[in-house]
Amino acid sequence: MPEDMEPGVIRKLDEVVVNRIAAGEIIQRPANALKELLENSLDAQSTHIQVNVKNGGLKLLQIQDNGTGIRREDLEIVCERFTTSKLARFEDLAQIATFGFRGEALASISHVAHLNIQTKTAKEKCGYKATYADGKLQGQPKPCAGNQGTIISIEDLFYNMPQRRQALRSPAEEFQRLSEVLAKYAVHNPRVGFTLRKQGETQPALRTPVASSRAENIRIIYGAAIAKELLEFSHRDEMFKFEAECLLTQVNYSAKKSQMLLFINQRLVESPALKTAVDAVYATYLPRGHHPFVYMSLTLPPQNLDVNVHPTKHEVHFLYQDEIVERLKQQVEARLLGSNSTRTFYKQLRLPGAPDLDETQPGDKTQRVYPKELVRTDASEQKLDKFLAPLVKSDSGMSSGSSEDAPPLPDESFRVTAAKKSREVRLSSVLDMRKRVERQCSVQLRSTLKNLVYVGCVDERRALFQHETHLYLCNTRAFSEELFYQRLVYEFQNCQEISIKPPLSLKELLILALDSEAAGWTPEDGDKTNLAVSAAEILQNKAPIMREYFGLRISEEGELESLPSLVPQHRPCVAHLPVYLLRLATEVDWEQEARCFETFCRETARFYGQLDWRDGSVGAGHPRWTTEHVLFPAFKKYLLPSPRLKDQIYELTNLPTLYKVFERC
Ligand code: ADP
Ligand code: MG
Repeated sequence: MPEDMEPGVIRKLDEVVVNRIAAGEIIQRPANALKELLENSLDAQSTHIQVNVKNGGLKLLQIQDNGTGIRREDLEIVCERFTTSKLARFEDLAQIATFGFRGEALASISHVAHLNIQTKTAKEKCGYKATYADGKLQGQPKPCAGNQGTIISIEDLFYNMPQRRQALRSPAEEFQRLSEVLAKYAVHNPRVGFTLRKQGETQPALRTPVASSRAENIRIIYGAAIAKELLEFSHRDEMFKFEAECLLTQVNYSAKKSQMLLFINQRLVESPALKTAVDAVYATYLPRGHHPFVYMSLTLPPQNLDVNVHPTKHEVHFLYQDEIVERLKQQVEARLLGSNSTRTFYKQLRLPGAPDLDETQPGDKTQRVYPKELVRTDASEQKLDKFLAPLVKSDSGMSSGSSEDAPPLPDESFRVTAAKKSREVRLSSVLDMRKRVERQCSVQLRSTLKNLVYVGCVDERRALFQHETHLYLCNTRAFSEELFYQRLVYEFQNCQEISIKPPLSLKELLILALDSEAAGWTPEDGDKTNLAVSAAEILQNKAPIMREYFGLRISEEGELESLPSLVPQHRPCVAHLPVYLLRLATEVDWEQEARCFETFCRETARFYGQLDWRDGSVGAGHPRWTTEHVLFPAFKKYLLPSPRLKDQIYELTNLPTLYKVFERC
């Protein structure tokens, strides 16, 4: 070390400079100051809060409220550090329910700007006006006229910190931030009326009425497009002791800009962990790079909340954070899927390029009617005879005849016809089935399905697919059954039909069924012909239900005329038809509505999930082809997988593991 080097002299920094630097940490721009002032006004029970701004708040930021006001004797010390009316003892720190508790906001502001307070309490006859600098009252408060409440004026922010001042070059940007802060508080506090004005302009930049609602304020501030898609719910969690109130957009809405309004114990905060979790739920449904609008208000036991992480108090941490975030994620997931218009979501799943909606009516391709756009204007449309109107016959014979690689019909006698228009389902039993499907849908698995890449068929029951770097083996049969079940539930009353020409005799089919091993007939069961006749009778009795709701037709002569068409290009395997019909007669609970639909759908799904593997050929229409070109695309497009299906998927390997293996070689 050179000898002529003198050690630096350590000096105590000037107190004013220290305070100024500390203040600059808390108040970094006008929007931080506004947040503190809004919280103070709300703490003071105000019902009207008006903000005036000049030059993005850099020249002037003024906030006027009609709250309790500040007592004359407190004006002396109100701007000194650590003075607060909200906290008397250290132990109170944990109990504090009001926003501020550190008594630092006004003090900080007074160190970096010219600060004026005009205030009047209910008790005092007149108001007082006081000026502050560096935390100290300048002169004496002057009596003045005025209404109850407080006006706080901040002028020339950072006049004494030129570099800080220079960094904030754009008043427009600062104004934008101010209005964002105000907007968020306005949504969170709908009982209070907020106004934001640029000085000199007659129209306020933003205004919400007193005694409004959160949804209404969202509409006023963020627009109708968001407001009409809002889903509102609250959740109370006993386990982790928190309450959440949420307003978030359904999956029909998305925007490039991410909007998350998060309040924890009434203060505006940010929680990157929660944001990431919520975004992940939506990512499955929204286009890439698009986001929802989310408002959440959480209430936690104050002792579980740590707000002292950052001087600006924006970022918070709380006890059980991971668990609470996970709970909220589940809630959002469940509500999104359980919400009413998720039927639109389900329908939307199939809209992109879905041929089955509009190609059934050749020559009328121009107007695709989205289910969500169907408005019933004429009550007579709901009359039963309307539903039984003659079917429109498709001349191609296939609903998806336009597809280039459409297979030849496996059986020339199977033709698809379609009902004209979506009919609205009102039966609560069916709506409940849908709700159950949606509620149980695993978002994670749904996302896997959506993005999978088909690899190949292993055997009758199993196929391989890849997702990201993972290779999976899945039980195709279990997936198909669930798929067809859901198709029945969602196409209820709107099933297209596969017509059978010539029609097949029920009785003959049933005898065939009884002859098969699967039926397990024994002589004790009685004469086969008699059994077939009575099974045919049951089916014929119930024919109107099957025709009306599922597009399965049985003629008066006891002949099977059509079956539901559930997935384009898919035909159930004829070999299993007899046993299916027999099971319809014996396994479906025809007595009780909800049970009846449930068992009918399950039986039908079971039948449709069977492929004819005895057919050893390859090419279009055959099992391997169907698995790849019909079933997997349908899984991707339609299936809302319940977590139960997770047991039907097995991860064989993944790339990172393979790398490890190869590294050793
Ligand atoms: P804190 O809010 O943490 O107490 P502040 O520096 O923000 O600290 O405010 C100091 C005190 O000034 C508050 O405790 C409150 O008593 C009083 N005060 C500030 N703003 C208002 C207001 N708008 N109406 C009534 N009292 C106010
Ligand atoms: Mg405060």
